[in-house]
Amino acid sequence: MLTVSEAEKIILQNALVPETEIIPISAALHRVAATPLRADRDFPPFDRVTMDGIAITFERFKAGQRSFPVFGVAAAGKPCQTLDDLSGCIEVMTGAMLPTGADAVIRYEDISLAEGIATIDEITVNFRQNIHFQGVDRKKDNIVVPAYRQIGPAEIGAAATVGAAEIAVFQLPRVALISTGDELLPVSATPLPHQIRGSNILTIQALLQDKFNIESQIFHFPDDEQLITDTLRQMLPQFDVILLSGAVSEGKFDHIPKVMHTLGVEKLFHKVAQRPGKPFWFGKFQHLKKDKDVGNNQHNVVIFALPGNPVSTFLCACRYVLPFLRKSMGMDALQPHYVVLAEPISFLPELTYYVPSKISYSTDGKLLANPLPGHGSGDLANLVDADGFLELPPNQSTFTAGAVFPFILYRR
Ligand code: AMP
Ligand code: MG
Repeated sequence: MLTVSEAEKIILQNALVPETEIIPISAALHRVAATPLRADRDFPPFDRVTMDGIAITFERFKAGQRSFPVFGVAAAGKPCQTLDDLSGCIEVMTGAMLPTGADAVIRYEDISLAEGIATIDEITVNFRQNIHFQGVDRKKDNIVVPAYRQIGPAEIGAAATVGAAEIAVFQLPRVALISTGDELLPVSATPLPHQIRGSNILTIQALLQDKFNIESQIFHFPDDEQLITDTLRQMLPQFDVILLSGAVSEGKFDHIPKVMHTLGVEKLFHKVAQRPGKPFWFGKFQHLKKDKDVGNNQHNVVIFALPGNPVSTFLCACRYVLPFLRKSMGMDALQPHYVVLAEPISFLPELTYYVPSKISYSTDGKLLANPLPGHGSGDLANLVDADGFLELPPNQSTFTAGAVFPFILYRR
């Protein structure tokens, strides 16, 4: 059986090769920049006043002058003024262009104004104070948002200020999410005693939307081998990623591995040495796709068939599907998070053990994880109490408090 890291390696080797599209800035949150965004002018674009007050020539202050006749007012949004007579001052507002000839700004709080004369209090004034000089943040053509950066609020602001009304981003994959099982009903239904409401697919849809703004399409299959085969055959060419939940284990109605074989989907692995999620099946389907520019093109569809237990599906989506999507959208791998185990725990099987855990901060600045094993892989209520999964390695059976392990955080 494959180890977790072997499975991860195979999955990442099959990441999609992203194409680029141009979208408006208003739609760019959570998307990934495909090209760097550069400053269209210096940053800031002019010597910007950073305090409301007066602008003077520092030499005059240094020479002992304290009273300055006011020769004008410079507001934000107005062209640059000139301090023609260096013995005077201009009143300046935050965001205004620094008047030519001035090289220090003194706040209103440090002066008194009477009869057109500004008199500076007993304070120290420094050469070039309260001025944000042209180009100190970035020069024209410098990169302000690098390529492969996921666009968050800070990147939106930087893009706006350089005039990027449209941004080149990597395309989002077309994702289908499919639940399987005769026992599953829609959320709005009232289940009979032998039925439950399906939850996995909505969980994964929310996860993909939360992380990447991916709008996946949702489907449901009953446990009917022929029907699954026929429907999947139609669906395969229409998606880049197909994620199934359930029917990959050893049960009489676990049809997915056989269906994949029938459809000619290449199995890349089945089963990973982990708990939960051991029956995880992964494969790819290649077909010729008509491309308007280059004729027929080889196209890969990647298939994640995750075990149906809710904790298994969620863990596998966080551990494998999210890194796969990151890479498929041009992003680097996330740096792993590490946490300190807050209490001892033991686990005998030679499997990587993913324990739902709650995170807290110690007073000395460490991230602590308290394991919440719950009641196994069906216990989805437990996921609401936890913040993520602690990853405990297979070659150990006792884990002591204070030891450090990787952590898969599913909360923001
Ligand atoms: P399976 O992997 O199909 O054997 O399912 C394992 C367990 O997970 C069963 O108890 C199923 O009822 C449950 N399960 C499967 N799919 C879902 C789903 N979409 N939502 C909630 N529970 C599910
Ligand atoms: Mg099932």
